[in-house]
Amino acid sequence: MELAAAGETEETFAENEVARFACVTIFPEMFSALTQYGISRRALEAKLWSLTLVNPRSFSGNAAQTVDDRPYGGGPGMVMRPEPLLAAIESSKMALHAAGARKSRVLYLSPQGRLLDHARVMAISAQARQATGFVLLCGRYEGVDERILETAIDEEVSLGDFVLSGGELPAMALMDAVIRLLPRALGDAASAREDSFAAGLLDCPHYTRPEVFLGQKTPEVLLSGDHGRIRRWRLKMALARTRKRRPDLLRNRAICAEETQLLAELLAEESAEQCGEHRLNKENSHESD
Ligand code: SAM
Repeated sequence: MELAAAGETEETFAENEVARFACVTIFPEMFSALTQYGISRRALEAKLWSLTLVNPRSFSGNAAQTVDDRPYGGGPGMVMRPEPLLAAIESSKMALHAAGARKSRVLYLSPQGRLLDHARVMAISAQARQATGFVLLCGRYEGVDERILETAIDEEVSLGDFVLSGGELPAMALMDAVIRLLPRALGDAASAREDSFAAGLLDCPHYTRPEVFLGQKTPEVLLSGDHGRIRRWRLKMALARTRKRRPDLLRNRAICAEETQLLAELLAEESAEQCGEHRLNKENSHESD
């Protein structure tokens, strides 16, 4: 099922800036979550990316269109048969080529793969924009016959250390993350630059109306209209949040002079707070003596 052919017109991107995906899946309907909603739908309509859905059942070779079989050696569950998967992968590669891809990489979504992170998404997005098409193999049941991994897969990609029922949701998560990074996919390109991880930090906190919610005020600086102060506050909050929640990100990142200054301010504020708490505790313990 071809949902959008990548094409080059005056309104769309140059050929090498279109992301091309083909998913091998026994549940092609699931992908409407990506093609029919939100940013990914708008980007699809703008021909920034294309998607071909290939159902291995079409290559099952049997009237019942079954693509699974019992595991050799016994045990629970079923295994996806290699022949329909290989044929579906080959068909996907041809579809990517027809959509303008110069080469293709085959990724198997698997809990045993390399964890997907921002760096990997950026790399895939960059490769996609250089006319590499991606075949995403979505497993089901107990997974796929091992020989498919050995012969037809370039890389295994995991969404996290947990097991899902199928590869469709991880494939959609990967595509959505890649699509967001395509130029013009977001209404405001700055959003992607300010998202968590883009600059190696977590995003700062956000506020909208009402100004006071359940007694909690919006920080005064955000209402000041002073763009310099607002930018500095946001950077400081992003640093504070990252330091608290993901210190590993800060350890692996170069820190500029302004950030060093902001981190020093945060440390000073923290130790002042701790001193204050310490004094209060002491006073309380004296009172109860
Ligand atoms: N028996 C497999 C194992 O333990 O490694 C899990 C099979 S799982 C029930 C079925 C399919 O879901 C897998 O073949 C894979 O495509 C997909 N899947 C499950 N968890 C995943 C994850 N964390 N990341 C990516 N894909 C996943």
